[in-house]
Amino acid sequence: MDPELSAILREIDQHRIQATVEKLASFGTRHTLSSQDDPVRGIGAARDWIFQELSAYAEKSGGRMTVEKQSFIQPVSSRIPVPTPITNVIATLTGDTSPARIYVVTGHYDSRVTDVMDFTSDAPGADDDASGVAVVLELARVLATRHSEATLVFAAVAGEEQGLYGSDYLAQQYKNAGADIQAMFSNDIVGTGDAHDGTAADPHTVRLFVEGVPTSETPDQASVRKSVGGENDGPSRQLGRFVAEVAQRPQTGMDVRVIWRRDRYLRGSDHISFLLRGYPAARFTEPRENFAHEHQNTRVENGVQFGDLVDFCDFGYIARVARLNAVALWSLAQAPGTPKGVVIDTTQLTNSTTLRWTPGTEADLAGYEVLWRETTAPDWEHVLTAGNVATVTIDLSKDNVFFGVRAVDREGNRSPAASPQPSS
Ligand SMILES: [Zn+2]
Repeated sequence: MDPELSAILREIDQHRIQATVEKLASFGTRHTLSSQDDPVRGIGAARDWIFQELSAYAEKSGGRMTVEKQSFIQPVSSRIPVPTPITNVIATLTGDTSPARIYVVTGHYDSRVTDVMDFTSDAPGADDDASGVAVVLELARVLATRHSEATLVFAAVAGEEQGLYGSDYLAQQYKNAGADIQAMFSNDIVGTGDAHDGTAADPHTVRLFVEGVPTSETPDQASVRKSVGGENDGPSRQLGRFVAEVAQRPQTGMDVRVIWRRDRYLRGSDHISFLLRGYPAARFTEPRENFAHEHQNTRVENGVQFGDLVDFCDFGYIARVARLNAVALWSLAQAPGTPKGVVIDTTQLTNSTTLRWTPGTEADLAGYEVLWRETTAPDWEHVLTAGNVATVTIDLSKDNVFFGVRAVDREGNRSPAASPQPSS
């Protein structure tokens, strides 16, 4: 492993993560409709504390990390009874050489109890989702002092429980600006590998949910897919393959269980806001949930403790999730960007395959690799080094396998693969 990445993983500190989860729970409730200006209780106090923490990390970045409160007024909707300010707290570490290429990681700092409109009862939200915010803050702290090639964004979003409003606004702002977001990860309910339900704990597994057919697919894109396949080759699937390849390392102490669906039954998270805008996105979450500990009033009923309490969190587990995120984000941001404009020549019928793509602009770009697999295989099976070229012809029928193209830099960092589209 790259020595800098090893150092990053060593610096991720479970005690700091514990302090963050405990601090966020101490605000009583972080419900989106709770107080915006009480200094000790409610979402406003949590917002200001997160801003202060991120700002302290940014001070050590030599001006490369900036922190903002991104606020807007959410109009009345089914879970918002009066127009309500919602604020995302965002730290951006600008890349040194590819600043326009962006990778985003989020956790949501709002919380809830049984009644989604109840903004006064205690809602500690330790697992859902102080754990995810703690991952985001710890990544921001450890990476603030480092030089990244591409831009990294660390965002604590709000309004998730009321309808993904914070991330929806964030993703739309990026879309409006034409931002080149090449991957986004939501860390939501990453607090423990122990469901506390009598089943064996699974402390070294985290799930990564990645959709197949893109949520943003247009009718034209659907038509191409129906004709030649590709249900398993959307940009988020390729991101899932990338994470599985780079992140299963002994240094993280964590295995990724990739799940080929957008999210769990009946549930969602902030990655969906990015998927809706056509950005590759995925969700990390713990291996098995205890639904008595999520979205519940804190109480004891028939001897069973309900509520999303700090006591149920495993801070070593959250630290491992943070290390896994660090490997994924750092590997993405130091590698070349995912190849663009990748097409498979379909101007004539042949038994060979010609691929073309738009050359990347990274100064340390070494070239490209073509990947392929049987159409029935889940993961890449073959790789061909194509060199620093923008087209390659392979003596394999495009009808019989699925192809992908990825970029490689001089240090051997590889991008996620891009699936070719038909040229005509
Ligand atoms: Zn959540």
